[in-house]
Amino acid sequence: MTPVKIQNTHQERMAYVYVRQSTPLQVIENRESTERQYRLRDRAIDLGWPPSRVEVIDEDQGRTGSLSAHRTGFQRLVSDVGLGKVGLVLMLEASRLARNNSDWYRLIEICGVTGTLIADENTVYNPREPNDRLLLGVKGTLSEAELFTLRTRLYEGRWNKARKGLLQFPLPVGYVRAADGGWQLDPDRQVVDRMAYVFELFRRHGVARIVVRDLRQQGLDLPTRLVSKEGYGSLSWKTPTLGAIVRILHNPAYAGAYVFGRWDYSGPRRSPKSGKVLPHLLSVPQWPVNIEQHHPSYLVWEEFVKNQERLRQNWNREGSRGAAREGSALLQGIAFCGVCGQKMTVQHHAESEKRSSSYICQRGYPYGETGVCQSMTSRPVDAAVAQAFLEAVSPTSLKVATRVLDQIEQNLTAQRQQREMQLEQARYEARLAQRQYDAVDPDHRLVAGELEKRWNEKLERVAQLEKAFAQSEQEAQWELSADERKAIAQLSCDLPAIWNAATTTNQDRKRLLQMAMDSVQLDGVHIPGQIEVQIRWRSGAVSSLVAKRPVQGEWSLKTPEQAVSKIHSLAGRQTYPAIAAQLNREGLRTAFGRPFTYRTVAYIWRRDGLARARKQLAAEAPDHGSGTD
Ligand SMILES: [Zn+2]
Repeated sequence: MTPVKIQNTHQERMAYVYVRQSTPLQVIENRESTERQYRLRDRAIDLGWPPSRVEVIDEDQGRTGSLSAHRTGFQRLVSDVGLGKVGLVLMLEASRLARNNSDWYRLIEICGVTGTLIADENTVYNPREPNDRLLLGVKGTLSEAELFTLRTRLYEGRWNKARKGLLQFPLPVGYVRAADGGWQLDPDRQVVDRMAYVFELFRRHGVARIVVRDLRQQGLDLPTRLVSKEGYGSLSWKTPTLGAIVRILHNPAYAGAYVFGRWDYSGPRRSPKSGKVLPHLLSVPQWPVNIEQHHPSYLVWEEFVKNQERLRQNWNREGSRGAAREGSALLQGIAFCGVCGQKMTVQHHAESEKRSSSYICQRGYPYGETGVCQSMTSRPVDAAVAQAFLEAVSPTSLKVATRVLDQIEQNLTAQRQQREMQLEQARYEARLAQRQYDAVDPDHRLVAGELEKRWNEKLERVAQLEKAFAQSEQEAQWELSADERKAIAQLSCDLPAIWNAATTTNQDRKRLLQMAMDSVQLDGVHIPGQIEVQIRWRSGAVSSLVAKRPVQGEWSLKTPEQAVSKIHSLAGRQTYPAIAAQLNREGLRTAFGRPFTYRTVAYIWRRDGLARARKQLAAEAPDHGSGTD
């Protein structure tokens, strides 16, 4: 049509001829069309492009056209157009394409942005001009705008209804909808009683896990509404799970509030599996719709808010720490799953497996469910946490450190008081049970039997608590005197050296970490290849860091090169123990930061094929090649 559209600014850039062909079969059958496409090159030259600036993209010939991901030529075209390198794109039947193919439609949009012309055999189109857009069949913008307003209107309507508390969604168990659409308590007395009991148990224990345990011990099921097609909405009773209890405790509906928009769907985090946005829960003050006293409640609003705080706290504190054991997993006892909040266990591997131990979350394991929630090798996490620890207790952070120590002592005193009170209560209950037993007529066998059973249970509880008390007293041995405090201040100066010293055991390292850290939360799921680490310090502060998941085989490369070359140079001339001693004298350390032993030296020898040289000295070494690192 009008070469007026073609300007110098276009001709200074490239002209791309895109040769497409749907299937290999068409390549053969449609010779003519192929020739027409190649002739577009001449048309570009006719339109004023020098031959050197005309490029034919025909990589996609013979490929099916459905997915742009498989068409490298098309991708190159799109990216070059996007970069503004292209002044003209030539193709056959440009307008038909734009109508039928969303990828082409997008390409034309990009051409509009970068001022790129589009041409076929007869016409030159400028995607910036409305008329040409119509000719190109780009009507999409209009309909998309319509769709957008429509969606916004629907969305707004939903929110308007929600703001008035009128938007209807499935009611949580324990409520039913009245004839007028309002919420009322379930007329089934048993349902209401059981839900109230759940809140009562949490009031008593403050720990969701214990609520589950108690319900299970008492054989009490939870009411649920069926969501399956058959029998939708009808009631059934199920064994309580931690997830169900936590959901109930988190649900503001039970506090009589009508809440909408608790979840934010706009966060940056996406599921590595589905690529969908992972919603995150907004905190109470951020809820966009929150109508208190909207319907009858199971607990008051203040208690609900308090419960949220309690759930958040004991999320990290449940269970005992567990005594620190030897082994490289330094976070044993303080590692918690960042996905589901469970305490993570440590899996040690046989020495022969040459694997470092792992942290594993076996969600539901305490409740008889199987399956692993997430797991990760301990080494990178330990390294990151150790580094954070050493930074935190460096002399510059000394003031913080002493505050931490104060905190520990306060916590210990408080914990001790709690335990003493608990023990005293249990003893009192045991005495009471004994008195009741003593008071009953021994001939009244049935009653006497029951009372004796209760008395025994109380005594057992006393024994348990006494044992736990003694144990925790022992664990709390690191209470600090003024002198020790001074010593620690001194120590903190050279803590990095102590941390790495050969005489320091992993048990010592674990204790050091536990002194400073309340818990460490690990999330190896949300960012592929990385582990998000959140340290909750004893002082109440929280630090976040990221550890990289190791690539397989990476660890074997980590023996410092200096040490490896030393081993190479000494191979065949000295025994393993002599080489190890030599390396240690020079201050070199293994991949794990430990001193060399004849085993580590032997490992490097075998790994690097130096064993033949070793034969000359076979008799001298205590090792016979069976050891592993
Ligand atoms: Zn988990």
